[in-house]
Amino acid sequence: MAGETFEFQAEISQLLSLIINTVYSNKEIFLREIISNASDALDKIRYEALSDPSKLDSGKDLRVDIIPDKANKTLTIQDTGIGMTKADLVNNLGTIARSGTKQFMEALTAGADISMIGQFGVGFYSAYLVADKVTVISKNNDDEQYVWESSAGGTFTLTQDEEGEQLGRGTKIILHLKEEQLDYLNESKIKEVVKKHSEFISYPIYLHVTKETEKEVPDEDAEEVEEDAEKKPKVEEVDDEEEEKEKKPKTKKVKESKIEEEELNKTKPIWTRNPSDITPEEYGAFYKSLSNDWEDHLAVKHFSVEGQLEFRAILFVPKRAPFDLFETKKTKNNIKLYVRRVFITDDATDLIPEWLSFVKGVVDSEDLPLNLSRETLQQNKIMKVIKKNIVKKTLELFNEIAEDREQFDKFYTAFSKNIKLGIHEDSQNRAALAKLLRYNSTKSGDETTSLTDYVTRMSEHQKNIYYITGESLKAVAKSPFLDTLKEKGFEVLFLVDPIDEYAMTQLKEFDSKKLVDITKDFELEETDDEKKKREEEEKEYEALAKALKNVLGDKVEKVVVSHKLIGAPCAIRTGQFGWSANMERIMKAQALRDTSMSSYMSSKKTFEISPRSKIIQELKKKVEADGENDKTVKSITQLLFETSLLVSGFTIDEPAGFAERIHKLVSLGLNVDEEPEASEETAEAAPSGEAQTTETAMEEVD
Ligand code: ADP
Ligand code: MG
Repeated sequence: MAGETFEFQAEISQLLSLIINTVYSNKEIFLREIISNASDALDKIRYEALSDPSKLDSGKDLRVDIIPDKANKTLTIQDTGIGMTKADLVNNLGTIARSGTKQFMEALTAGADISMIGQFGVGFYSAYLVADKVTVISKNNDDEQYVWESSAGGTFTLTQDEEGEQLGRGTKIILHLKEEQLDYLNESKIKEVVKKHSEFISYPIYLHVTKETEKEVPDEDAEEVEEDAEKKPKVEEVDDEEEEKEKKPKTKKVKESKIEEEELNKTKPIWTRNPSDITPEEYGAFYKSLSNDWEDHLAVKHFSVEGQLEFRAILFVPKRAPFDLFETKKTKNNIKLYVRRVFITDDATDLIPEWLSFVKGVVDSEDLPLNLSRETLQQNKIMKVIKKNIVKKTLELFNEIAEDREQFDKFYTAFSKNIKLGIHEDSQNRAALAKLLRYNSTKSGDETTSLTDYVTRMSEHQKNIYYITGESLKAVAKSPFLDTLKEKGFEVLFLVDPIDEYAMTQLKEFDSKKLVDITKDFELEETDDEKKKREEEEKEYEALAKALKNVLGDKVEKVVVSHKLIGAPCAIRTGQFGWSANMERIMKAQALRDTSMSSYMSSKKTFEISPRSKIIQELKKKVEADGENDKTVKSITQLLFETSLLVSGFTIDEPAGFAERIHKLVSLGLNVDEEPEASEETAEAAPSGEAQTTETAMEEVD
């Protein structure tokens, strides 16, 4: 039957030529990838059969077979899994781009190892590490049997397979090995690789080995020998001395070769064993086969729950976040559910909350019924209890990691976003998770601090835990908002991850102490003396504040005299309840967000002026002398407002106007006489008549 030819999607084609030509030496991982796909396919049919047992009718047991063929130089890996329809073959093996394809190639260029391929969801193509041609024969319950074949080079063919041996159900991958890779036909090599990478696959893997034995058989007449040969087709007669044989016909030696199937992974499920008998290497090997990871796990928790409900579980925390950690389309969770040792599904969304989606492992329940459907799983009470326990144990595991500084640093680098997401979403575990937070602060130096440690450093009269939010450590470390807190000796945490704000608004307090964003309006602890001084200053500067509000108009909600600033003349603080400057920045950056919220959430700006600043003191005199309508007063106020926007983390609506004002200042510093045209332009853009007064205005600033 004539086949159809398809072109590989461009990136896949690129990946294939990269793989087929690599000089990479650790090629054995191809077998792990092919077996892992077989295991996935078996998982899928197993799961479908839970609600419809007839789906298993067309095939034999759930198993994987490895068949080396030295004569034809092929290595075949066959499974009785779900199989692929024609469309599946076209889509899954070549035409539909996967996000991992490009990412994997980029990772390789950046020095990643080919053995990482499985993590990027393109493991199948590793077959081309050892084969120059791959044939995939597959039969799914919903379609006929098809043959996919490709020698890379940009295309593959697809042919319906009516004549070939019918699989019933499943997939047969035939690797036509490259000349220099024939070692993978050797029994010992295959055993070694399977033991190393696939020991914990939960379906039996059978290696077909040809055993040859010599046997003495009575030498009867030729006819009978033939009969015998028919029964055992692979018996061949050793008859090098035909003549002699005729003379002494009693017995003869025959070489018998028969195929034996040897099961390679007989170990019982690791989670059923006693944790104290399991070596770290065994956990590592199990983790790798479970996760497709090429590196060991960071931490593991192996436990059993008994009592009303019984289950065993092993949970792993990886060393790194997967490349698609927060990809929205990703649905697969990483916990495999077993019921009394039988694999049920890795798609039980209710087994672990989303914020813990990076945790990998297995759960084996004694109580769940075997014939669980997706729907019943979701409402199942037992599942709810299991989930609760998993979260609890995971938190225990995180706390164990936290005991080792170095380990915890790795953990936090990879998964701090998940912890913060957990704080945002999981009200029950919020307080426990908050203990895992780490931040730089005004007192932490290069290290980070936990909230618990922060509390131990709090001074006697400090009531709140203070933090500042912003785009980067550099941006917040010198913020004018820090001044008074520093003066009082109050530590301030630096929150520079966009998700921090979300987490903090939910957390609200820690250890009964309020968490306070110092870029927003808040009440600062003050002594009686401080209070008295503040009230005096407020009175003294009240008129100036009012004048500045008149100048700035709607740009600010109000102008207040601030005792929370010191050296800096002014800053812009937001209200306790809308967005902070940082949040406004984050929200603006989210292109697809619903804009209807922004009008009432957007920050209410308070312009704060510091009576302790020389600039403000002089400005006060100037306003008292010349009034708020003085052009210089207006210009200076505008400039102060704009620079405050910047240091407070906002953006300037009209950067050109701001630049113009700064340039005037620069011209003045350099004694440049402005071009007449430039003055005209300025006169247009700025409030009327401003240009003529520029010089006097800037003299005042000096
Ligand atoms: P991944 O396994 O991460 O999805 P692979 O490149 O290893 O990526 O496999 C690609 C896809 O090909 C699989 O998702 C699956 O749909 C299909 N596939 C591969 N091998 C088999 C198999 N033995 N049986 C059924 N489907 C398979
Ligand atoms: Mg795979």
